[in-house]
Amino acid sequence: MQLWCTENETEYLGLTTRVKETLFAGKSEFQDVAVVDTYQFGRMLVLDGVFQTSIAEEFVYHEMIAHIPLFIHPNPKKVLVIGGGDGGAVREVVRHDTVEKVEMVEIDGLVVEVSKKYLPQISKAMLENNPKLDLKIGDGIGHMAAAENEYDVIIVDCSDPIGPGEGLFTHAFYQNVYKALKPDGLFVQQTESPFYHQPLIRRLSKDIKDIFPIHEMYLAHIPIYPGGMHCFTIGSKKYASKDVDLSNRQKLETKYYNEELQKAAFALPNFVKELIK
Ligand code: SAM
Repeated sequence: MQLWCTENETEYLGLTTRVKETLFAGKSEFQDVAVVDTYQFGRMLVLDGVFQTSIAEEFVYHEMIAHIPLFIHPNPKKVLVIGGGDGGAVREVVRHDTVEKVEMVEIDGLVVEVSKKYLPQISKAMLENNPKLDLKIGDGIGHMAAAENEYDVIIVDCSDPIGPGEGLFTHAFYQNVYKALKPDGLFVQQTESPFYHQPLIRRLSKDIKDIFPIHEMYLAHIPIYPGGMHCFTIGSKKYASKDVDLSNRQKLETKYYNEELQKAAFALPNFVKELIK
């Protein structure tokens, strides 16, 4: 028997991959949680039927969501990750010598437990109880509302803007992110596909521009997200991508991120420029 797993992106488009074995399928208070072993991508985390991350290509998303903002900031010491329950973003954040502490607030304890059990390569920093990491199970929205002037960099490694992630894409949330950042802080958020999520990206770009003096977007190519092209949005109080100087910064061994991409990832096709104008 052949088993296939499909993520439906729109009413008319899905991405399908052949499954060797379902390793876990359960339900938390927040969502359906599954780990499937696939022929194409190896083990893959799926939440509410949406592909989140897989062993074969997770390096693209996790390196790009962590290293780009952490190198824009000249000296990031305290970092917050909202979501990111698979642990891939914090695995990359703790590699930065400047980072002393990373708090992670993930709403769903089941995602963390399942990732530790079935995706040890990705969840490494959580599994090894990395001393820089302070992991809390809770709602990132409430956490952000309570924080003030605390973080150098905030990484919003959230799922799609439905279910528990919906409130992470609102004007009120971005105002709280601004308040939670230090006077020269910046934040990044995964903001979906510039091809398939145009109304969402238009709205959130307007909200972020309304609040932050610097608004930027960069791209990465992520094989398990329908369309492949994925965008990340930055709101920054002081530092911009064009001013980054990597000459005296730590050199990290990476599979996707590199010094050229630190600036080149911000080169946008015209239809994307138009979208966020
Ligand atoms: N790379 C992924 C993607 O875009 O497909 C995102 C990875 S990560 C698994 C997303 C996480 O955000 C999920 O584990 C989900 O439980 C968490 N999440 C969603 N809403 C949240 C909230 N309000 N507070 C904290 N975590 C949240």
